[in-house]
Amino acid sequence: MKKKLNSLFKKKDLLIALFSMLIVLSAAIIAVIEAFGIPVWKNIFKVCAVNEYSYCADGYPMSVHILDVGKADSIFITCEGKNILIDAGETNLYNFVNEYLKKLNVKDIDQLILTHPHSDHVGCMSYIVDEFNIRSFMMPYLKDDMVPTFKSYERLLDSLDKKNIKIDKPETGKGYNIGDMRIDVLGPVYQYDEMNSNSVVIKITYKNKKFLFTGDAGTESERDMISLGEDLSADVLKVGHHGSKTATSQAFLNRVQPLYAVISVGEDRNKLPKKETINRLKENNIKTYRTDLDGTVIFATDGESLQIFCEKGNKN
Ligand SMILES: [Zn+2]
Repeated sequence: MKKKLNSLFKKKDLLIALFSMLIVLSAAIIAVIEAFGIPVWKNIFKVCAVNEYSYCADGYPMSVHILDVGKADSIFITCEGKNILIDAGETNLYNFVNEYLKKLNVKDIDQLILTHPHSDHVGCMSYIVDEFNIRSFMMPYLKDDMVPTFKSYERLLDSLDKKNIKIDKPETGKGYNIGDMRIDVLGPVYQYDEMNSNSVVIKITYKNKKFLFTGDAGTESERDMISLGEDLSADVLKVGHHGSKTATSQAFLNRVQPLYAVISVGEDRNKLPKKETINRLKENNIKTYRTDLDGTVIFATDGESLQIFCEKGNKN
């Protein structure tokens, strides 16, 4: 009887101790939330690697997210509540791109850009148009015989039409502002017979930091941008055409002079990026990130300094 009573008391003590700990823990959680707000929790999740990687850039006024969409492009840029999406990966990546934007609480996309209508860029863009509020849309003007007829492209045209979104053509040499970001359209300089060269090339400047996005533009397009005499200089270069050897010429690097480069790439029959490109970037002392090795890469800035976060290990 005595034994039974003792064990009952022990159990009761244990329960009281556990309950007290729970109360203390809850009070501590509430105190931290009240003192620092919700973002602290996002950062805690980030440190704990609970699939909250997209929050790395929280607290920075501007960030550029090179999404890991394999050998394709999808780049999300956000600055003080204004959002830009360049390309949308392949069709099967809709859930990934959509979830990524949703996690960042994106509802409006101020500028959606299709650099050029190849499937690894146009892929899931129609679903993005259906799902988000698109304020403006840009894609290159193509010669009649180059207009594609594949499904994801036609679906995109339907989605744009349904929402009455007009298609802006890139006006090379012109600049405009989206919030605090300056957007300069640098290419395509001409209409080309080769689709990749028709890629929209834009530079985004936020205070003292500049990012250059080249789509799949190749050396032909690079040469014409150089000839036009535009200021191509940038801190970060999104390497053209997934690191293929037909882009990122030495002449182009001389003009851009980036400190960092990032290649959006994954397993592919063309075995990109090519060694020549990687070596050229190395020889120019450009620190290069690759989505196939680093996962999604985030550049976060206050306009003066730059922080780089890699999903597969922080390499900054
Ligand atoms: Zn591509």
